[in-house]
Amino acid sequence: MTFNVLTAELSHETNTFSLRKTGKQAFMAHYALMGAAAIAERGDENTELAGFLDAGRAHAWRVTHVLSAAAGPSGHIGRKAFDWLCEPILDSIKKYPFDGLLLGLHGAMGLDFCEDGEGELLRRVRSVVGKEMPIAITLDSHANVSEQMCALADIIVSFKTYPHIDMRDTGRQAGDILQRAMSGEIKPRTVRVSRPMLEEINGGRTDIGPMIERIAAARAYEERDDVFAVSINAGFASADVATVGPTVLVSGQGNFAEHTAFAETVADDIWSRRFEVLNEYLSVDEAAAIAVTYEPHKGPMIIADYADNPGAGGYGDSTELLRALLDMGVSNACFGPMVDGAAVQVLQTAVVGEHIQISLGGRTDPDFGGGPLAVSAELVSLSDGHFTGDGPMIHGLHGSFGPSAVILVGGIEVLVVSIPRQILDLQQFRAFGIDPQNKHVVALKSMQHFRAAYEPISGQIIICDSGALCTPRYDRLPYRNVPRPIFPLDL
Ligand SMILES: [Zn+2]
Repeated sequence: MTFNVLTAELSHETNTFSLRKTGKQAFMAHYALMGAAAIAERGDENTELAGFLDAGRAHAWRVTHVLSAAAGPSGHIGRKAFDWLCEPILDSIKKYPFDGLLLGLHGAMGLDFCEDGEGELLRRVRSVVGKEMPIAITLDSHANVSEQMCALADIIVSFKTYPHIDMRDTGRQAGDILQRAMSGEIKPRTVRVSRPMLEEINGGRTDIGPMIERIAAARAYEERDDVFAVSINAGFASADVATVGPTVLVSGQGNFAEHTAFAETVADDIWSRRFEVLNEYLSVDEAAAIAVTYEPHKGPMIIADYADNPGAGGYGDSTELLRALLDMGVSNACFGPMVDGAAVQVLQTAVVGEHIQISLGGRTDPDFGGGPLAVSAELVSLSDGHFTGDGPMIHGLHGSFGPSAVILVGGIEVLVVSIPRQILDLQQFRAFGIDPQNKHVVALKSMQHFRAAYEPISGQIIICDSGALCTPRYDRLPYRNVPRPIFPLDL
């Protein structure tokens, strides 16, 4: 029997504290690709879609891929943009009789009229297809998973890696489970357990620490006959929502008391080890002091600004780390990105080699990460900001920082861009003429994803907290909607 399967990817990690609301333009600036165009860009790379298509070929489905859309993490999505994103999916399921749906979602999407964006999407989908059609979804492991999502999706599979490098595998796993559900072999549903925490305190790092054993336990439990997927979500702390925090999900059938008991043991482990923090968050001045004496025997020192990570909704225009590096006289270094479209516009009026005085960054909210920095800069190059990834996370995928410039400030090459993006691939510097491997110090904005491409070339990695919007000091954020008490706000 040939099944008709609808696939779609719709991803947004909503930082509810961000002053930048998310509209249609934010998706257009990142990617919003329909059907064949989405398959051409994402169909054979490390994406959920590629995994969906792998499953489709293996099971001889007729696949209708509707859209792949994502915006960089930012504030709430407005109703008009959300309706626009849902429309092609809802139109397709109204027109055609599908046997199953396969959706690649994030799991931390917040709308300006509803805090559970994925739940709202699934509610709209179910109102068309009814209760019986099997629906499988994939999630980023930084999902805040609601009971509604579990009730409306039969099958949920989250990434098991952070840095995320298993998107394709996750898509394939969800597709294989969906096949068994469509054929009537299994009838899965998903149970969820949670703990009152803003997040698994290490963000769910899977390269070191306790998550390694938890993922191994999840994989072992998945080997059971009536268990199809076990997902351990770290949660996403920059969302002031009732469902914030880590969850353990079991998509299965049969003895749910046993599945829930298993999930509780993993959740207990997350709770009991909540004080085991793997990252040491240095101040920017401490980080700069270490960097200025660094001897690059085995590669550059990487300094990650955890707090200004655009990949979690940080504005990317925090100036504190750059200020500290300049104050300390750190040289043979690069820094990126500094998200400041207005500065790029000024730089576009200069010629390469020209020295100009310019104000950099700190425009969005100086309370988080510092105000504008006045610097004397030499313009090194201008570009349209396009790059193509070649590392484990975004190999072969195209991205853009929008209009961009490289400037030399003191001994630091600074990548100034218009569109916020996390640094997670070497090409995000190399495409603009900066080779991180030849630098003594590479300062970048990322929490953990940078490790996939940068750990292999680095001599040492340090993490700092610039005080920007994604600061691990959660007491600085105005939480109102999370359930209290919650760790670590109420220790
Ligand atoms: Zn994530």
